[in-house]
Amino acid sequence: MQTKDGMVAARVAGWLGGFFVPDACPVCAGAMGTAGGELCPDCAGLLVELPEPRCAHCGGAADSALEVCGECLRIGTRPWRHAVSVFAYGGVTRDLVHRLKYGGQPYLARFLGRRMARAWSLHGTGVPDVVVPIPLHWWRRLRRGYNQAELLAREAAEALGLPVLPALVRTRATRRQALLDIDRRQANVKGVFASRPRWSVRGRHVLLLDDVLTTGHTLGEAARTLHTAGALAVSVLTAARG
Ligand SMILES: [Zn+2]
Ligand SMILES: [Zn+2]
Repeated sequence: MQTKDGMVAARVAGWLGGFFVPDACPVCAGAMGTAGGELCPDCAGLLVELPEPRCAHCGGAADSALEVCGECLRIGTRPWRHAVSVFAYGGVTRDLVHRLKYGGQPYLARFLGRRMARAWSLHGTGVPDVVVPIPLHWWRRLRRGYNQAELLAREAAEALGLPVLPALVRTRATRRQALLDIDRRQANVKGVFASRPRWSVRGRHVLLLDDVLTTGHTLGEAARTLHTAGALAVSVLTAARG
Protein backbone atom coordinates (compact mmCIF):
# COMPACT_ATOMS: atom_id res chain seq x y z
CA MET A 1 0.00 0.00 0.00
CA GLN A 2 2.95 2.36 0.35
CA THR A 3 4.15 2.25 -3.24
CA LYS A 4 5.12 5.53 -4.83
CA ASP A 5 2.23 5.24 -7.29
CA GLY A 6 -0.15 4.66 -4.41
CA MET A 7 1.15 7.72 -2.56
CA VAL A 8 0.83 9.89 -5.68
CA ALA A 9 -2.67 8.58 -6.35
CA ALA A 10 -3.64 9.26 -2.72
CA ARG A 11 -2.27 12.79 -2.94
CA VAL A 12 -4.15 13.45 -6.18
CA ALA A 13 -7.31 12.09 -4.54
CA GLY A 14 -6.73 14.60 -1.75
CA TRP A 15 -6.29 17.49 -4.13
CA LEU A 16 -9.63 16.72 -5.70
CA GLY A 17 -11.36 18.85 -3.14
CA GLY A 18 -10.64 16.60 -0.21
CA PHE A 19 -13.08 13.93 -1.33
CA PHE A 20 -12.36 10.29 -1.90
CA VAL A 21 -12.37 9.03 -5.43
CA PRO A 22 -15.41 6.73 -5.56
CA ASP A 23 -14.44 3.06 -5.34
CA ALA A 24 -10.89 3.92 -4.26
CA CYS A 25 -9.39 2.95 -0.92
CA PRO A 26 -9.28 6.09 1.29
CA VAL A 27 -5.87 5.10 2.64
CA CYS A 28 -3.89 4.07 -0.47
CA ALA A 29 -6.28 5.11 -3.29
CA GLY A 30 -5.97 1.56 -4.62
CA ALA A 31 -8.82 -0.59 -5.89
CA MET A 32 -11.34 -1.63 -3.24
CA GLY A 33 -11.80 -5.19 -4.44
CA THR A 34 -15.06 -7.02 -4.12
CA ALA A 35 -15.04 -8.01 -0.43
CA GLY A 36 -16.80 -4.85 0.75
CA GLY A 37 -15.69 -2.81 3.76
CA GLU A 38 -14.23 0.70 3.93
CA LEU A 39 -10.63 -0.14 2.97
CA CYS A 40 -8.95 -2.20 0.27
CA PRO A 41 -8.03 -5.74 1.45
CA ASP A 42 -4.31 -4.80 1.74
CA CYS A 43 -4.94 -1.83 4.04
CA ALA A 44 -7.66 -3.60 6.00
CA GLY A 45 -5.16 -6.35 6.78
CA LEU A 46 -2.45 -3.93 7.89
CA LEU A 47 -4.49 -1.55 10.06
CA VAL A 48 -5.13 -3.36 13.30
CA GLU A 49 -7.16 -1.88 16.14
CA LEU A 50 -5.91 -1.90 19.72
CA PRO A 51 -6.48 -5.23 21.45
CA GLU A 52 -8.96 -5.92 24.23
CA PRO A 53 -9.06 -5.45 27.14
CA ARG A 54 -8.26 -1.74 27.06
CA CYS A 55 -6.84 0.39 29.82
CA ALA A 56 -9.62 2.35 31.48
CA HIS A 57 -7.40 5.45 31.88
CA CYS A 58 -5.44 5.80 28.64
CA GLY A 59 -7.20 3.54 26.13
CA GLY A 60 -4.07 1.47 25.48
CA ALA A 61 -3.75 -2.26 25.87
CA ALA A 62 -4.39 -3.28 29.49
CA ASP A 63 -1.80 -5.58 30.98
CA SER A 64 -4.00 -7.97 32.88
CA ALA A 65 -7.20 -8.30 34.83
CA LEU A 66 -6.29 -4.98 36.52
CA GLU A 67 -8.14 -3.06 33.78
CA VAL A 68 -5.26 -0.58 33.50
CA CYS A 69 -1.92 -0.67 31.69
CA GLY A 70 1.47 -0.79 33.42
CA GLU A 71 2.16 2.84 32.53
CA CYS A 72 -1.06 4.14 34.16
CA LEU A 73 -0.42 1.94 37.17
CA ARG A 74 2.97 3.62 37.54
CA ILE A 75 1.70 7.18 36.91
CA GLY A 76 -1.38 6.85 39.10
CA THR A 77 -4.16 9.18 37.99
CA ARG A 78 -4.46 10.89 34.65
CA PRO A 79 -5.84 14.45 34.40
CA TRP A 80 -8.85 13.20 32.45
CA ARG A 81 -11.69 10.82 33.15
CA HIS A 82 -11.25 8.33 30.36
CA ALA A 83 -9.34 7.96 27.06
CA VAL A 84 -10.13 6.02 23.90
CA SER A 85 -7.87 5.37 20.89
CA VAL A 86 -8.45 3.40 17.72
CA PHE A 87 -5.07 2.04 16.61
CA ALA A 88 -1.73 1.19 18.18
CA TYR A 89 0.79 3.80 16.96
CA GLY A 90 3.34 2.20 14.66
CA GLY A 91 3.75 0.75 11.17
CA VAL A 92 0.93 1.72 8.85
CA THR A 93 -0.82 3.82 11.50
CA ARG A 94 2.30 5.91 12.03
CA ASP A 95 2.58 6.33 8.27
CA LEU A 96 -1.07 7.45 8.06
CA VAL A 97 -0.70 9.97 10.89
CA HIS A 98 2.52 11.35 9.34
CA ARG A 99 0.83 11.72 5.97
CA LEU A 100 -2.02 13.58 7.66
CA LYS A 101 0.28 15.86 9.68
CA TYR A 102 3.32 16.41 7.54
CA GLY A 103 2.49 14.98 4.11
CA GLY A 104 -0.15 17.49 3.06
CA GLN A 105 -2.91 14.85 2.94
CA PRO A 106 -5.66 16.34 5.12
CA TYR A 107 -8.36 14.21 3.49
CA LEU A 108 -7.13 11.24 5.60
CA ALA A 109 -8.89 12.92 8.53
CA ARG A 110 -12.20 11.68 7.20
CA PHE A 111 -11.33 8.01 7.49
CA LEU A 112 -9.52 8.42 10.82
CA GLY A 113 -12.15 10.74 12.32
CA ARG A 114 -14.96 8.33 11.52
CA ARG A 115 -13.07 5.41 13.03
CA MET A 116 -12.47 7.55 16.13
CA ALA A 117 -16.19 8.26 16.44
CA ARG A 118 -16.94 4.55 16.16
CA ALA A 119 -14.31 3.70 18.79
CA TRP A 120 -15.86 6.26 21.14
CA SER A 121 -19.32 4.78 20.60
CA LEU A 122 -17.94 1.33 21.47
CA HIS A 123 -15.53 2.12 24.30
CA GLY A 124 -16.35 5.61 25.59
CA THR A 125 -18.13 6.27 28.85
CA GLY A 126 -20.59 9.06 29.48
CA VAL A 127 -22.07 11.42 26.91
CA PRO A 128 -19.84 14.39 25.99
CA ASP A 129 -21.43 17.75 25.30
CA VAL A 130 -18.75 19.19 23.02
CA VAL A 131 -15.63 18.19 21.07
CA VAL A 132 -12.50 20.33 21.58
CA PRO A 133 -9.43 19.84 19.36
CA ILE A 134 -5.86 20.34 20.60
CA PRO A 135 -4.85 23.63 18.94
CA LEU A 136 -1.68 24.25 16.95
CA HIS A 137 0.32 27.42 17.43
CA TRP A 138 -0.95 29.92 14.86
CA TRP A 139 2.38 30.02 13.05
CA ARG A 140 2.54 26.22 12.64
CA ARG A 141 -1.08 26.15 11.54
CA LEU A 142 -0.36 28.83 8.94
CA ARG A 143 2.61 26.89 7.58
CA ARG A 144 0.74 23.57 7.49
CA GLY A 145 -2.45 25.13 6.15
CA TYR A 146 -4.63 23.23 8.62
CA ASN A 147 -4.68 21.72 12.09
CA GLN A 148 -5.02 17.93 11.81
CA ALA A 149 -6.66 17.68 15.25
CA GLU A 150 -9.30 20.17 14.12
CA LEU A 151 -10.02 18.11 10.99
CA LEU A 152 -10.28 14.91 13.04
CA ALA A 153 -12.54 16.72 15.52
CA ARG A 154 -14.84 17.90 12.74
CA GLU A 155 -15.22 14.41 11.27
CA ALA A 156 -15.65 12.65 14.61
CA ALA A 157 -18.04 15.30 15.94
CA GLU A 158 -20.21 15.06 12.85
CA ALA A 159 -20.44 11.29 13.21
CA LEU A 160 -21.24 11.60 16.93
CA GLY A 161 -23.72 14.45 16.46
CA LEU A 162 -21.74 16.83 18.69
CA PRO A 163 -20.63 20.45 18.21
CA VAL A 164 -16.94 21.38 17.86
CA LEU A 165 -15.79 24.12 20.22
CA PRO A 166 -12.42 25.85 19.59
CA ALA A 167 -12.13 26.37 23.35
CA LEU A 168 -8.32 26.26 23.58
CA VAL A 169 -5.50 28.33 22.14
CA ARG A 170 -1.76 27.69 22.19
CA THR A 171 0.00 30.60 23.85
CA ARG A 172 3.49 29.84 22.53
CA ALA A 173 5.25 27.69 19.96
CA THR A 174 6.75 24.51 21.42
CA ARG A 175 9.26 22.00 20.17
CA ARG A 176 7.74 18.82 18.79
CA GLN A 177 7.17 16.44 21.72
CA ALA A 178 8.33 13.47 19.66
CA LEU A 179 11.79 15.07 19.33
CA LEU A 180 12.27 15.42 23.09
CA ASP A 181 13.33 13.00 25.83
CA ILE A 182 10.40 11.71 27.86
CA ASP A 183 11.43 13.71 30.95
CA ARG A 184 11.58 17.02 29.04
CA ARG A 185 8.12 16.72 27.51
CA GLN A 186 6.18 17.90 30.54
CA ALA A 187 8.23 21.12 30.85
CA ASN A 188 7.88 21.72 27.10
CA VAL A 189 4.08 21.98 27.31
CA LYS A 190 3.66 23.49 30.79
CA GLY A 191 1.27 26.44 30.61
CA VAL A 192 1.12 26.24 26.82
CA PHE A 193 -2.68 26.34 26.56
CA ALA A 194 -5.19 29.02 27.47
CA SER A 195 -8.97 28.79 27.39
CA ARG A 196 -11.02 31.16 25.26
CA PRO A 197 -13.80 32.83 27.28
CA ARG A 198 -15.88 33.22 24.15
CA TRP A 199 -16.09 29.41 23.85
CA SER A 200 -16.91 28.48 27.42
CA VAL A 201 -16.72 24.85 28.55
CA ARG A 202 -18.13 25.62 32.00
CA GLY A 203 -20.26 22.75 33.30
CA ARG A 204 -19.66 20.65 30.19
CA HIS A 205 -18.29 17.19 29.54
CA VAL A 206 -15.54 17.83 26.96
CA LEU A 207 -14.26 15.26 24.50
CA LEU A 208 -10.68 16.37 23.84
CA LEU A 209 -9.26 15.29 20.48
CA ASP A 210 -5.76 14.77 19.11
CA ASP A 211 -4.06 12.50 16.60
CA VAL A 212 -1.84 10.50 18.98
CA LEU A 213 -1.63 9.92 22.72
CA THR A 214 1.98 9.05 23.60
CA THR A 215 3.10 10.13 27.07
CA GLY A 216 -0.11 12.14 27.50
CA HIS A 217 1.68 15.33 28.59
CA THR A 218 0.13 17.52 25.88
CA LEU A 219 -3.38 16.13 26.39
CA GLY A 220 -2.91 16.31 30.17
CA GLU A 221 -1.94 19.97 30.04
CA ALA A 222 -4.94 20.72 27.81
CA ALA A 223 -7.25 18.77 30.15
CA ARG A 224 -5.99 20.75 33.15
CA THR A 225 -6.62 24.02 31.29
CA LEU A 226 -10.18 22.90 30.50
CA HIS A 227 -10.79 21.93 34.14
CA THR A 228 -9.51 25.34 35.25
CA ALA A 229 -11.96 26.89 32.79
CA GLY A 230 -14.80 25.07 34.57
CA ALA A 231 -15.24 21.89 32.50
CA LEU A 232 -17.30 19.30 34.39
CA ALA A 233 -15.34 16.39 32.91
CA VAL A 234 -12.71 15.82 30.22
CA SER A 235 -12.43 12.65 28.17
CA VAL A 236 -9.83 12.00 25.47
CA LEU A 237 -10.18 10.54 21.99
CA THR A 238 -7.20 9.93 19.67
CA ALA A 239 -6.60 8.06 16.43
CA ALA A 240 -3.61 6.22 17.90
CA ARG A 241 -2.05 5.24 21.22
CA GLY A 242 1.76 5.35 21.22
ZN1 LIG B 1 -5.73 0.62 0.58
ZN1 LIG C 1 -3.17 3.14 30.62
